[in-house]
Amino acid sequence: MSRLIVVSNRVNPPADPGVGTAGGLAMALAAALRDDKGVWFGWSGETVERFAGRPKIENVGGVTVALVDLEEQDRTEYYDGYANRTLWPLFHYRTDLASFERSFGEGYLRVNERFAETLLPLIRPDDLIWVQDYHLIPLGRELRRRGIENRIGFFLHTPWPARRVINTLPKHAELVEALFAYDLVGFHTNDYLDSFGDYVINEAGGEFEWGVARAFGRSMRAGVFPIGIDVEEFRQSRKSKAALDYFKRVQASKINRKVLLGVDRLDYSKGLEERFLAYERFLDDNPERSEQVFFLQIATPSRTDVGAYQDLRERLDTISGRVNGTHATVDWVPLRYVNQSYRRDELCGIYRASDIALVTPLRDGMNLVAKEYVAAQDERNPGVLILSEFAGAAEEMQDALIVNPLSHEDVADAIRRGLDMPLAERKRRWESLMDNVTRGDVTAWRDNFVSALSGEPAVQLAS
Ligand code: ADP
Repeated sequence: MSRLIVVSNRVNPPADPGVGTAGGLAMALAAALRDDKGVWFGWSGETVERFAGRPKIENVGGVTVALVDLEEQDRTEYYDGYANRTLWPLFHYRTDLASFERSFGEGYLRVNERFAETLLPLIRPDDLIWVQDYHLIPLGRELRRRGIENRIGFFLHTPWPARRVINTLPKHAELVEALFAYDLVGFHTNDYLDSFGDYVINEAGGEFEWGVARAFGRSMRAGVFPIGIDVEEFRQSRKSKAALDYFKRVQASKINRKVLLGVDRLDYSKGLEERFLAYERFLDDNPERSEQVFFLQIATPSRTDVGAYQDLRERLDTISGRVNGTHATVDWVPLRYVNQSYRRDELCGIYRASDIALVTPLRDGMNLVAKEYVAAQDERNPGVLILSEFAGAAEEMQDALIVNPLSHEDVADAIRRGLDMPLAERKRRWESLMDNVTRGDVTAWRDNFVSALSGEPAVQLAS
């Protein structure tokens, strides 16, 4: 039987599979790796003076993990540089924030070569290799160059942007050509697959038909595999003490008010600034609603050493201060802006106590918060999901209130509509959303990709 080798920038299997504090993706991959006696390979997050070229092999919660240490220059150029300052903004349509520095591109290639060299001795002839995300696009090609003939798949967790956007990347053709070293490339949505096909046909002069792309003298399959959450684990965690405690805490603080909730990493792709402004617009336009609602935004700081993230945080501090300064009363704070992180079971309780979720990214590969919010609801009294049309999740979750996150009026209207939505409509929408979240859970995502990669009928392959 073939083993699965998962390769990602960071490796984070849950230490104890029963506890469920790790993310759904980590849980699903770890489960497959335990069953297949596979290996999870990636960067330890540590740096050393000199790259050693040998992985540290450990067993974490029944999963074999192989970790490599990188050099400080690797971290600067590959991770902080090309991954976080070039590809991340570019893939999220922020060409204005993307840095194009040659040293970043060189570091990116060097680390991908280092990954390939270190992984090489661990690969057995029948192994399936599954590479995750934009950090490692050239890895497949580097493995091929070193003689690996195994099936290798790649999955992109971010959007694949429109052709005109990807064209702003120096050496974009080289990056896309690298994808053709894989047997299978997966995207979250049809929209991303279409953009990729557009590039293949109109930029690379190739063909893209029936899920097969031909260009650069090679062919490979490309398909749609929308990621989901671990629904079962999430439903279980609803009953946990932490979930119940947090549910009660938020309920007690409501005092007959309705709660709008946002939960995000503090990232410019999440549309936090626009969301705050839309809420301000809602308060300005609906004075009669004052004191009937409050907005709880949980935003955990991330990539705090990158200037664009520091700037965003400052702007959010300013807007939240203004909203509260203008609208607050002695016993009402309209915007509770929290920079803390919460455990998944705690979040589950917070989701359940909230009447509306505002998931309004400007661009997002999928957005799992939308799915978690739905899974956490009480079926007898479910909340309303307001979802950006630019989140990958919108393709599957059309029964949410779909908004353009750039239009403050559009979002303010949706808040009003959500607050007034009758129970019957909330239930109807939630049932349809929940059905979708359940059928497309993280196990289905993993199994569909792995079975397509191993050559069994590829149910999800889009035309
Ligand atoms: P991204 O991967 O870009 O951060 P997703 O919405 O796809 O966005 O996934 C975010 C994950 O991180 C979800 O599982 C969510 O529960 C978790 N998360 C996001 N924000 C927070 C927060 N403030 N505290 C705790 N967990 C969070």
